[in-house]
Amino acid sequence: MWLDMPRPSYGNLSGSLTADLLVVGAGYTGLWTALRAAQRNPDQKVVLVDADRVGWAASGRNGGFVDASLTHGVANGKARWPNEIDTLEAMGLENLDGMQADIEALGLDCDWQRTGMLSVATAPHQVAWLREAADDGEGQFIGQDEVRAEVASPTYLAGLFSTDTTAIVHPAKLAFELARACGDAGVRIFEHTNITGMDGSGGAITFTADTATITADKAVLATNVFPSLIVRNRLRTVPVYDYVLATEPLTDEQLGRIGWANRQGIGDCGNQFHYYRLSADNRIVWGGYDAVYHFGRKVKPAYGDRPASYRLLAAHFFLTFPQLEDVRFSHRWAGAIDTSTRFCAHWGLARDGRVAYVNGFTGLGVGAARFAADVSLDLLDGRPTERTELEMVRKRPLPFPPEPLASVGIQATRWSLDRADHSAGRRNLLLRTLDALGLGFDS
Ligand SMILES: Cc1cc2nc3c(=O)[nH]c(=O)nc-3n(C[C@H](O)[C@H](O)[C@H](O)COP(=O)(O)OP(=O)(O)OC[C@H]3O[C@@H](n4cnc5c(N)ncnc54)[C@H](O)[C@@H]3O)c2cc1C
Repeated sequence: MWLDMPRPSYGNLSGSLTADLLVVGAGYTGLWTALRAAQRNPDQKVVLVDADRVGWAASGRNGGFVDASLTHGVANGKARWPNEIDTLEAMGLENLDGMQADIEALGLDCDWQRTGMLSVATAPHQVAWLREAADDGEGQFIGQDEVRAEVASPTYLAGLFSTDTTAIVHPAKLAFELARACGDAGVRIFEHTNITGMDGSGGAITFTADTATITADKAVLATNVFPSLIVRNRLRTVPVYDYVLATEPLTDEQLGRIGWANRQGIGDCGNQFHYYRLSADNRIVWGGYDAVYHFGRKVKPAYGDRPASYRLLAAHFFLTFPQLEDVRFSHRWAGAIDTSTRFCAHWGLARDGRVAYVNGFTGLGVGAARFAADVSLDLLDGRPTERTELEMVRKRPLPFPPEPLASVGIQATRWSLDRADHSAGRRNLLLRTLDALGLGFDS
């Protein structure tokens, strides 16, 4: 649905080219990296390439929730980096505000709305979780009547409203508009240019594609869920498929049945959670719950075709909004999330500090990608900054095991998470052990 619009087209690269900075991957991470590099030093030659099209992957097919959190939620950040969580939260909010300021300054037309986030409890044990989160300053707790007055669902038992920490955006427009801004800043963009090789270390690095060679002083690999050009990085993430439905545009009368006047992004708070929001033309975009890992760690278009996941999503939609029984779904799609064992991005340097890489956003990378771009450029600069000194940036996550262990472990964890959702949140021995080891599986 998001990608179903006229989009800019950039030619592929053939022949040879030199660059001061090569950015591989034109999703949000690569786009922000190229843009901010050109802004930092307008004289440098920045080249951005993508194997496919600008924003075609996760960046063009996500839910469009732009969250301030850099750590896949405060709870995850607090558990892993208790000493720096306040700094991480402040940097995350600064990043979100900075993104809003950039969007305004560059005139990016991407349906940005700072709506805030409404987390809803749909099972009794989740009400206590929301109260605790409110006590920790994560938002305002609202009871059953109040939350249903905001958005009328018979499944809501309570809510947590965080006004400032979330915006919603049209994901594909954001990617296309960032590409336009890159072009305006002098970045050269090439699509259909798949980098398959990387050679050299001390001097310039040579990157090879089918029909091209690019020699670059420095590079950032922003390839997300796709196999990393740095082989040792490949075990640190797994592709997890996330499924989404979108309705036809609701009429005013249909929307009136559920309220939602404040248009917040909404998420329920089970381990397996749904996320949903309105588009500018009042469709409901409804995704999440199933997070499916396929044996072998592959990213394949065929994995998007999973009728059981779409049926389950549809059933949950009508349980949540029975008053919308006459609403039809017009679109369905899936995308691969690069899940890391710590649920948020990690960085590294290779080739004598000339190549930076970042990935592992799990399901919360729309806002964090801009921060990740800054960190990657800081790392390449080689001068310590407040960002590069963060423990979160200096440490890397534990890898997932190779197959068949990865598959067995992930399926057992998913089964346990589902059990916990249906047993008042109680976590079994496997989940408690993984928690103690700082390992896990999420979307
Ligand atoms: C269904 C879904 C819903 C989501 N919902 C949300 C949400 O609501 N909020 C949120 O914060 N996050 C969400 N996410 C996650 C978010 O979309 C991603 O974290 C974010 O888009 C990552 O951006 P990226 O640029 O790192 O990766 P991508 O957008 O995946 O871009 C990587 C690019 O690298 C290119 N590439 C890879 N290898 C090569 C190579 N060798 N040579 C050249 N190019 C290469 C690919 O073609 C691709 O275009 C969701 C993800 C999915 C799949």
